[in-house]
Amino acid sequence: MNNQGGLLRKKADSLYSRVILARDRYCLIDGHVATDAHHIVPQGLSEFLRYDLKNGVGLCLTCRRRADDCHPFALSILAGKIGIDRIGYLTEHRRDMVVLDVAYLTEAVRRLKKELRRYSSH
Ligand SMILES: [Zn+2]
Repeated sequence: MNNQGGLLRKKADSLYSRVILARDRYCLIDGHVATDAHHIVPQGLSEFLRYDLKNGVGLCLTCRRRADDCHPFALSILAGKIGIDRIGYLTEHRRDMVVLDVAYLTEAVRRLKKELRRYSSH
């Protein structure tokens, strides 16, 4: 990826985390203050869901580590909280293909900025 694409990707990644934390102020698993934006389907497994807000949840650091380690108790609580419709959506789209080129990333940044304004105004 060229330099412009790399910068846009960093910007989009950062905006994504900010949007998730503005939306989910408290950890979805235990209710502590959320500090980490967790991808339910990991970024490495789905570029399509990388900037999809349905794929993000705010977690505290402890629960983030448990989720990353696939701790069964944490994952079962998470699954119950996000609900079957959202799990179905993520399952359906996790293999969708997308090219993270400059045009796609520019649009992702634009959309995430808009979402950030929306969640920050509450
Ligand atoms: Zn937590």
